[in-house]
Amino acid sequence: TTGKPDISREKSTELYEKSKAFFPGGVNSPVRAFKSVYGTPLFIAKGDGCHIWDADGNQFIDFCCSWGPLILGHNHPKVREKVTEVMQNGMSFGAPTALENELAELLLKNNKFIKKLRFVSSGTEAVMSAIRLARGYTKRDKILKFEGCYHGHSDSLLVKAGSGLVTFGETSSAGVPKSFADETIVVGLNDIAALDKAFEEFKDQIAAIIIEPVPANNGLLLQTKEYLQYLREICTKNGTLLIFDEVISGFRVGFEGAAGHYGIQPDIITYGKIIGGGLPVGCYGASVEIMGSISPDGPVYQAGTLSGNPVAMAAGIAQLTELLRMGFYRDLNNKTEEFTESIQRFATARNYKFKVFSIGSIFWFAYTDKETISSAEEIDPASMEKFKIMHRELLNRGIYLGPSGYEVGFISSAHTKVDLEKAKRAIFESLDLVFRK
Ligand code: PMP
Repeated sequence: TTGKPDISREKSTELYEKSKAFFPGGVNSPVRAFKSVYGTPLFIAKGDGCHIWDADGNQFIDFCCSWGPLILGHNHPKVREKVTEVMQNGMSFGAPTALENELAELLLKNNKFIKKLRFVSSGTEAVMSAIRLARGYTKRDKILKFEGCYHGHSDSLLVKAGSGLVTFGETSSAGVPKSFADETIVVGLNDIAALDKAFEEFKDQIAAIIIEPVPANNGLLLQTKEYLQYLREICTKNGTLLIFDEVISGFRVGFEGAAGHYGIQPDIITYGKIIGGGLPVGCYGASVEIMGSISPDGPVYQAGTLSGNPVAMAAGIAQLTELLRMGFYRDLNNKTEEFTESIQRFATARNYKFKVFSIGSIFWFAYTDKETISSAEEIDPASMEKFKIMHRELLNRGIYLGPSGYEVGFISSAHTKVDLEKAKRAIFESLDLVFRK
């Protein structure tokens, strides 16, 4: 028994049947297809605050938040107003606008870890450009990434990545030439010996280490500050650039992201969707000197018709302005801590093999009795069966988690105490069903 009847999926199913004729798997991004959870994908019709509604009219408290960017929740009035205002004057020019300056100034004035930046249109593009920049700047070809870290879908990074690739049990992707993958060295997270060995073997060949300083695409694999500091040191020693991919952690664990949280200065930082308040944006930034390699100042080419798009800039300006309000992160992080701790207390009191890992307003449910999980291989794939039950039970109780047990959850400033209490009750009931079966 599942305890509660399944929600109606009549309209979503109808839309899915139709979409399958249009798109591979019926979707425009793989994880959305609900392949590893129960039922057909829910087609979302509307979002407001911390709630979303699907095509059948089911209402959910949303802990996916468009996979992170909606830190103010859906349809935030300030964001909506600014976007609406800017849209009255046209939506794209392919020429500079004052709005780009305004968003850049907000970013750079309040973040000491980058001095110049370039706007792009997605996280994938930001990371792909950062890698090219690192290669162009160092005149080296190899990059080193970590097993389980996802950096978007550009060729050289689709090697032992997380996100949809873990969900589907693929370690790489067809269509990536072996010669490209050969330029990518992969080591396990939190494994200093493997890292040292890679630097010995490929001495003077590694352009960059790229890491999600808060790895959040293959569970939440929190690293120690000492380990991240070690990466900084080995890079400096070897003339290798350190890239922090902060597409998830940027403006999420604090305005200065993981760099600020851990107090570590990377050489290049990538940011994504969160700086566009839900519209398609990303950016990469570095020192003035490193950014001097980018075209038209330098030899590394990178461009985009929609880069710095005025509507996306407007959403970013409105969102980041809100994040800079006094106490924003303190309140959000405290709320998250209270939420995650009380779920942990519930599970621990009942001896459930269940851990809630969290940082800032990011959380991840792990069906394990391990005290910490800091590398991809520590996650038991069998535990995903438990997630599958949990996901269904939660949907049936009006709680929406992203449809993969490897993905993290997000809390927004729109989640009120009342919403979180309601969510907790649903989570408690679902945990009882998952573990007492
Ligand atoms: N890097 C990281 C750390 C990510 O989490 C993601 C996607 N969530 C990306 C890059 C790619 O971003 P996008 O999906 O916007 O291309």
